[in-house]
Amino acid sequence: MEDRPRYSIVAPIYNEEGNIQLLYDRIRAVMDSTGESWELVAINDGSRDRSLELLEQLARDDKRVKVINFARNFGHQIAVTAGLDHASGEAVVIIDADLQDPPELILEMIERWKAGYQVVYAVRQERKGESWFKLLTAKLFYRLIYRITDVNIPMDTGDFRLMDKKVVAVLNSMREHNRFIRGMTSWIGFKQTGVSYVREARHSGETKYPLKKMVRFAMDAVTGFSYFPLQIMVYVAFVLGLLAVLAIPIIAILRLILGYEFLGGQVTTIVLLLIVSSFQLFFLFVMGQYVARIYDEARGRPLYIVASRLNVSDEVVGRIRLSSREARAAPAPET
Ligand code: UDP
Ligand code: MG
Repeated sequence: MEDRPRYSIVAPIYNEEGNIQLLYDRIRAVMDSTGESWELVAINDGSRDRSLELLEQLARDDKRVKVINFARNFGHQIAVTAGLDHASGEAVVIIDADLQDPPELILEMIERWKAGYQVVYAVRQERKGESWFKLLTAKLFYRLIYRITDVNIPMDTGDFRLMDKKVVAVLNSMREHNRFIRGMTSWIGFKQTGVSYVREARHSGETKYPLKKMVRFAMDAVTGFSYFPLQIMVYVAFVLGLLAVLAIPIIAILRLILGYEFLGGQVTTIVLLLIVSSFQLFFLFVMGQYVARIYDEARGRPLYIVASRLNVSDEVVGRIRLSSREARAAPAPET
């Protein structure tokens, strides 16, 4: 059996030729200072520059560098997922390759991990060198997500985080396609804590998140963790229904008692329209509830996650693992 490194550092890489050497140097300096073993898992997400070449060179010189080379660009979250699949450390750190996430912070994360936390996420105190547009959209995004999702996703937190191998194992068992990893980690639970840092400007190159990718990312976050968009219709239905109900007596009074003649027969049509739309929206909402349930089943997330067991024999745990259905419910970590 090959020995497992104590730490894995996962870095997704898309056209980062100007950052790779420095990323490696800084990670090496930081990780060597721990005096423990480590590996760097780099995922080349279909780069079109010299990133792959540089990574291969590093891997030749240092066997601790593992390279996973994608056949094309699959996107940031999928690249990170592949990295987590391939990471074998007892603690795994996800880090951006552009050095916006300072590798030096990993030491602080490790300290928290050793103090008993299974997830240590990095909270951005301040973001340097980013456009006001990115800052504003990011701020709004994190606040929206915070409000409408069912899990508590910490604000101003990216994917830069350390996770215990137990958490990684659960995350790896969640194979949904539209992945919002920071939300999924929050959803999993265990003991989580944050450390704060100042997010530097990108070392080299430009952002790989154009508006289109940002919008998709936000959609994945919202649809992956909230049914709010499916439920919003019920409010509209209610308002339209209320308008119709109010309109009927008002029109009757205007017409019959006060003798107003304006608008003619159109009024009846408008009221009917309100009633019918209200019913339609209401039933769309009902359908949405069923769609949400189908979605839950299709995602196949585990029903619960066990952090630890007491006085439960290995035999029982093994039995749970055996039946594939329950294994899904409890992909419980080895301790
Ligand atoms: N990235 C990736 N695939 C993509 C887009 C980005 O692997 O399709 C990587 C990128 O190389 C970087 C990280 O994801 O290491 C974060 O991307 P970026 O710095 O461009 O995002 P930003 O910091 O601007 O939000
Ligand atoms: Mg960046």
